[in-house]
Amino acid sequence: MKPANSVLSGYGTTIFEVMSRLAAEHGAVNLGQGFPEGLEPPALLQAAARAMQDGPHQYPSMMGIPALRRAVADHAGRFYGLEIDPDREVMVTSGGTEALADCLFGLIEPGDEVVVIEPLYDSYLPIVRRAGGVPRLVRLQPPDWSLPRAELAAAFGPRTKLLVLNSPMNPVGKVFDAEELGFIADLLVRHDAYAVCDEVYEHLVYDGRRHIPLITLPGMRERCLKIGSAGKTFSLTGWKVGYVTACPALLQPVAKAHQYITFTTPPGLQQAVAEGLASGDGYYLGLAADLEARRDRLSAGLSKIGFDVLPCAGSYFLITDFRPLGFDGGDDAFCRHITTAAGVAAVPVSAFYREAGPGHYARFCFAKKDDALDEAIARLARHFAR
Ligand code: PMP
Ligand code: GLN
Repeated sequence: MKPANSVLSGYGTTIFEVMSRLAAEHGAVNLGQGFPEGLEPPALLQAAARAMQDGPHQYPSMMGIPALRRAVADHAGRFYGLEIDPDREVMVTSGGTEALADCLFGLIEPGDEVVVIEPLYDSYLPIVRRAGGVPRLVRLQPPDWSLPRAELAAAFGPRTKLLVLNSPMNPVGKVFDAEELGFIADLLVRHDAYAVCDEVYEHLVYDGRRHIPLITLPGMRERCLKIGSAGKTFSLTGWKVGYVTACPALLQPVAKAHQYITFTTPPGLQQAVAEGLASGDGYYLGLAADLEARRDRLSAGLSKIGFDVLPCAGSYFLITDFRPLGFDGGDDAFCRHITTAAGVAAVPVSAFYREAGPGHYARFCFAKKDDALDEAIARLARHFAR
């Protein structure tokens, strides 16, 4: 048999799928894969049900239904003061994952260098490499994950095409601040580079913090592609509705990738998301407040058991150092162990590195129902009390 594509064949099954399967097999409480429970807004479910009855059911415009493009543009104006042309600067995708792939396939020319920040979301490297890009990796260091400015600057050069920036950041829960973003913006201008801004967790920001999109900084409107996800904003990850916002010169090549990858996204779901984005401030504030309370609940429980829990400013995730528990092994072994022996699944943080990661951190998703969080805490407490 002739070999398949060597880049993609070199990767195993994604860690989220692996841990979710293991969790299901062992009846574990799944705090591994990042998906929420019990937060689906009833109004969106009703809107989708209505759309399923009433239609339309045929291909919508490849750029997305007008109502959703308008809603994405309005949302950008309302939250970030951006003036976006819904007809030329917004494209609807089948989730943030497709949006990322479209941006990378649409912009990268083989041999281009792409700066990525570790720990990183698992789809970035395979797609960058499949597109022919040459990754330049920069690592944030625990426990505070601050931006290593000199290293980041050194990763940029004459061949840099773009940076992929994830804020709020999976898995570490970091939210890049205005100074860090200003430093990044200077680099982009200096090297005439673009930024693919993965902002799927834009509304999951805690303790009164504010998410600042890089595209709002001076000079960035023509350099940034901003990615959002209704999966995260409305706790409907299975719907796979995402959106890219960028100036026409950047969006056009990205649309070329989209038209050959998925072309469209189910129209009824787009309609429901359009209605959702227009929700009042109470919805957005309530979502963050609810998740913040869940974060604190899980953090307190894990700390009491003996985990060293790192701070989390945004996203769904807590990073925990499990060394204080005396486990003899790396993070992959630890996560498998607690899934099979304690009945609680987590994700090893080394999965977010190209090569050896720190090896002693487990990521727990706190976006679950209180009952699930309490049950997970009780199981881990029993297990480690032995
Ligand atoms: N980027 C990051 C950082 C994520 O954590 C996720 C989560 N799945 C995605 C992109 C993909 O979003 P979607 O589910 O909308 O494809
Ligand atoms: N983003 C989610 C996570 O980090 C999972 C997405 C997926 O399963 N592909 O857990």
